[in-house]
Amino acid sequence: MNESYERSRYLVIKNNCHTSKYKNSSVIKIDIAMTNKCNFICPYCYEKKIVNKNLTIGNDCNEYIQKLKKYTLNSISSATKTLEVVFYGGEPLLEKEIMTNINNAFIDINNSTGVEYKSVI
Ligand code: SF4
Repeated sequence: MNESYERSRYLVIKNNCHTSKYKNSSVIKIDIAMTNKCNFICPYCYEKKIVNKNLTIGNDCNEYIQKLKKYTLNSISSATKTLEVVFYGGEPLLEKEIMTNINNAFIDINNSTGVEYKSVI
């Protein structure tokens, strides 16, 4: 299994897990695991067991961002008022540039659909 596939799979699993329960809601929530890498050592960390796997979305993810955008657009219905995105990890800021690109894709969705877009880290 190549590394790129591992990264995509990691992200997709997290997305699907968190969007499915909000189907037909006025709010679509998407939690995006940018990476499970982290430069902290919090004693309460529940990610400790997987942090060392070093999974990350990576720089070669433009195709994936387009798929994420399409997936999100397909999830929007006439009932949708708000799109809420959580960027998390690990430490999501370790993938700041990619996070900005994903953020821009959601801003495009906001501009084209009028659905309010909120994001947090
Ligand atoms: S993943 Fe979160 S909880 Fe774990 S060490 Fe990093 S910042 Fe702390």
